[in-house]
Amino acid sequence: MNPVFAPPQAIYIHVPFCAHRCGYCDFTLVAGKDHLINNYLRALEMELSRVEDSPEISTLFFGGGTPTHLLPADLKRLLEIVLSKFRLAAGCEFSVEANPAGLSEEKIAILADAGVNRVSLGIQSFDAQILSVLERDHRQEEIDQSLQWLRRRINNIALDLIFAVPGQSLALWESTLEMAVAHHPQHLSTYGLTFEKGTAFWTRREKSQLTPATPELEREMYALALDKLPAAGYEHYEISNFAQPGFRCRHNEVYWTGQSYDAFGPGAARYLDGRRSINHRSVTTWLKRTLAGELPIGETEMLSPEDRAREAIALGLRRRAGIDLMEFHERTGYDLLELAGDAVDSLTAQGWLERNSGTIRLTHEGLFFADQVAGEFL
Ligand code: SF4
Repeated sequence: MNPVFAPPQAIYIHVPFCAHRCGYCDFTLVAGKDHLINNYLRALEMELSRVEDSPEISTLFFGGGTPTHLLPADLKRLLEIVLSKFRLAAGCEFSVEANPAGLSEEKIAILADAGVNRVSLGIQSFDAQILSVLERDHRQEEIDQSLQWLRRRINNIALDLIFAVPGQSLALWESTLEMAVAHHPQHLSTYGLTFEKGTAFWTRREKSQLTPATPELEREMYALALDKLPAAGYEHYEISNFAQPGFRCRHNEVYWTGQSYDAFGPGAARYLDGRRSINHRSVTTWLKRTLAGELPIGETEMLSPEDRAREAIALGLRRRAGIDLMEFHERTGYDLLELAGDAVDSLTAQGWLERNSGTIRLTHEGLFFADQVAGEFL
């Protein structure tokens, strides 16, 4: 039986502009090339021309880069271009990523007037020294000011934090968590710093100019977030994500539950009709191809039913609720324990997975080895 794929209810728009590139960042973006913004908007409009009949969507997410790096007039045009193609369902979660540097009341008003109801603010830390190591261009005063402005118009605010930064002590991370909680955001994400090949941080680590946190310290920092954030009323609902009740990120839940989504912009990844594809990661290649009327897709892969089922396990285990075995069977056509019973047994014996009344999920210990666990199923 061929699976029936539902049309995508989630749309991602990639906005690849930043004032400068932070040393650890390997996202698809250009820094200091704002002269490309006009062409980007033209190209995005062309790429979106493949969308027909104004489909209704449940989540819309603008990520980057820094969408709010755009000047107010460009930000307004970006929103108009995208909103002319889709109908937002009642209660649609409409998120935009923002950074404290360069945010203004005027930009927030443009977002709110266009229907944005969730802003994810990349603060990373409140500490001047840590922000400087990360090469972020904001200070605590800008975080406070941004949050004050945002609260007037947006009632769902998410904060991103980074731990295991060179030079960051456990006590400093604890005070960062406490300060974040004191701002009462609806959502918090905590990510351990990674050193990606091709970034300035990778090179500096190779040259011993940067010393990463030890694995023990990184583990202690993650454990601290796992203790402190739920104690402050945040549900730990995904490996790195915590939310006040009712404020989980519905857009990201689409990814973790293996539902379809479409995406536009350089480097944007989509999952449609069982096929994964990703646009060219080079902003200039994406621009050139799209403006020439060509498809900007760089890589594409049709997943077999078994690949889809295996991927559904790896993604589903990211959620603290884990995987409901019956629901998994209905969705993928596979009995999870027949497909991957050996891996489930050995990871359970290791103490990283647990089975409870028809579900499997990571144990508390398993959270610290989530990538290894996922790798066992792929
Ligand atoms: S602001 Fe964010 S997206 Fe932009 S360079 Fe820094 S880490 Fe990357």
